[in-house]
This record gives sequence, structure tokens and C-alpha cells, in this order.
Amino acid sequence: MRIGIIGGGQLARMLALAGYPLGLRFVLLDPAPDACAGQVAELIQGDYDDREKLAQLADRVDVVTFDFENVPAAAAHFLEETVLVYPPPLALEIAQDRLAEKTLFRELGIATPAFAAVDSLETLYTAVKQVGLPAVLKTRRLGYDGKGQWLLRDKADIEPAWRALDGVSLILEGFVPFLREVSILALRDRHESMAFYPLVENRHRGGILRLSRAPYEDIALAQQARDYAGRILQRLDYVGLLAIEFFVLDGQLLANEMAPRVHNSGHWTIEGAETSQFENHLRAILRLPLGSTAARGYSAMINFIGELPDLNAFLGVPGLHFHSYGKAPRSGRKVGHATLRADDPAMLEAELGKLLPLVGVG
Ligand code: AMP
Repeated sequence: MRIGIIGGGQLARMLALAGYPLGLRFVLLDPAPDACAGQVAELIQGDYDDREKLAQLADRVDVVTFDFENVPAAAAHFLEETVLVYPPPLALEIAQDRLAEKTLFRELGIATPAFAAVDSLETLYTAVKQVGLPAVLKTRRLGYDGKGQWLLRDKADIEPAWRALDGVSLILEGFVPFLREVSILALRDRHESMAFYPLVENRHRGGILRLSRAPYEDIALAQQARDYAGRILQRLDYVGLLAIEFFVLDGQLLANEMAPRVHNSGHWTIEGAETSQFENHLRAILRLPLGSTAARGYSAMINFIGELPDLNAFLGVPGLHFHSYGKAPRSGRKVGHATLRADDPAMLEAELGKLLPLVGVG
């Protein structure tokens, strides 16, 4: 079986690496000639809306999937005419627009932060009245890792924020003084079976994920997350892996956003779960039986942002698994990660405590 992947970043790279033991082959489409997944799979260099390149890809594979969600919807629909495409392009379209995403959550009875659409200074003032301050003004589209966001602390922040983000469609969200952030990785296969990984606790800095710990053990929250995820999977007739990020406030989940793809907060599953998110995504889209999502002990995943740390400092640590994505260092770029796995949570924390200062996470 051959799988086409739109996007050739680290997620595509890890999908390919997970697929080889199953005998799968991969073809990627990415505009960058040095896309890092091109080191481990065949790369077609081309823009995501280049019909000729899309047709070339579709011709050579049995199924197409994505390594990022900002694939033009028209490209996904074009592919769908000739080849199986999972997850469904509808899921991409919704996840590309924060307003559509939060509206879907609300329709499905999934709690979210307060939100309102903004498309003029006037509607921004109305939204502030509705949502209250402090609030976060975000671009509806093409925001990721905290990009395109503006915190409004008080009324004096309104007009500068509007001027900075003027001209694009926006969403205003109530600022959530959350206790923690968690995510769930959920799967639905082509037989409509669903499976869920344990909850993950995530720490961000500057809008970028720095550290994930799993499993985050809270029976009530895990049940709520599975229930919410199940509603989304069914509504979208979803196939593949879906990640949903939540804020935890007063013992309840508030949905922040979803990603219709394998997700950074699931990298720990490579060593920390019976079956990795990458392998299970492939199994789901290929109509193969899903593998167990059970955790193997306790895991912590540290992201390497900008540059890799000294290998010597990391490789000597028991239970540590190092992943370099083969990317050149660049500020703010995800260039690798490490997962620390242990059978005992206290042991995990002891080793983690020594590593975190080395990557600037307190
Ligand atoms: P996002 O791009 O929406 O995932 O936002 C990136 C990070 O910014 C989140 O993981 C939070 O840490 C923070 N953030 C986003 N929206 C809010 C909000 N409404 N209230 C508080 N923090 C937020």
C-alpha cells in the first residue's frame, strides 16, 4: 500500500517511519525542496494548489492524508475526485477557521471559552461587551503556535490590537485563567470504531508546546474528553487521528481547538503507548485493525525549539528516546523532541527535573 502525504514536515516524517514496519510506502508533496520528511520518503516538490502535482501524487498512491491542516480546501476536494482522502476535507475546513471550529463545539454541546466574531472595530467593541476583559483576539485563519494572537487586558488595548490585526477576520475569546492544559488524541477507523489515548497534560510557552506528560490521570476529565471527542468524530464522519486541546478550569474542560492530524502532544505515544499515534492513524485510514492505545508506564515529551540540545547530556539518561527531525536550526522552529519513559512516575519526575533546565523549561 502507498500513502500520499500533503506536507513533508516532521509529522509526515514520523508517519513514514511508523509505516515502514507495516510494509507501507510513502510519497509526499511539499513546496520546500528540503522538507525534512524528504530524507525518509519520496518527495514531489510542488505547491499545495498545483493541480498537476496533486494529480501526480493521487496517481501513485492508494490513500492521501495530511501533515498539517492549512491545506487549501480546493486541493483536498480535487484529490477526493480520484483517490481516498482521510481525514475528510470537511474536518480540515472547520479546523482552518477558529470561528467555525468553536461554533461546531457549541453545536455539539462541548463547552468552550466565551467567543464572538469580529470583522470591524465596531464589532470588536460589541464582542468585548459580550465576552468581557481580559480577552484574546485571534485571527480566524492561519494562526498556529500562538501566532496571530493579541491579549486585551483593558479597554486601552482594543484599538492598538485592532490596528495590528486589521483587515482579517478575527475571533475574540474570553481569557481563560486555566489551571492546566490537556489534550486528547482520538481515533475513528473506516469501520466507524473509535479509540482514545489517555489524557495528556501540556505546557506551552510563547504559544508553543514545550512539554507533555502522559497519562494525565483524572477519571472524570478523561471521560468528558472522550465523550466530547466522540461527538466530533461522529459528526464529521471522521477517519484517522484527531487531537483536541482543552483548558481545565474549575474541574471542567473548555475546548480550545482541534487538529485533524497527528499531533505534537501525541509524540510520547511512539515509546509510551502500545501503538503510536502515527501507526494508529495509518491503520485507521487503511482499514486495518487499530492497535491498543494503552500507555506503557509514564512518559514526558520535551520539544526542542530552535536547536537541538547536546546529545551527550540526553542519551545517557535511562528511558530516554531522542528524535531529531533532520532540520536546520532556526529560532522558533520545532527541530526535535525527546520522550522520557519510566514505569514509576516519581522516577520519571526525578530524571525530568534534571533535563528541563537544559532546554530552558522551568
Ligand atoms: P492556540 O493557538 O489557540 O492553541 O493558543 C496557543 C496557546 O495560547 C494556548 O495553548 C494557551 O496557552 C494560550 N491561549 C490561547 N487562547 C487562550 C484563552 N482564550 N485564554 C487563555 N489562554 C489562551
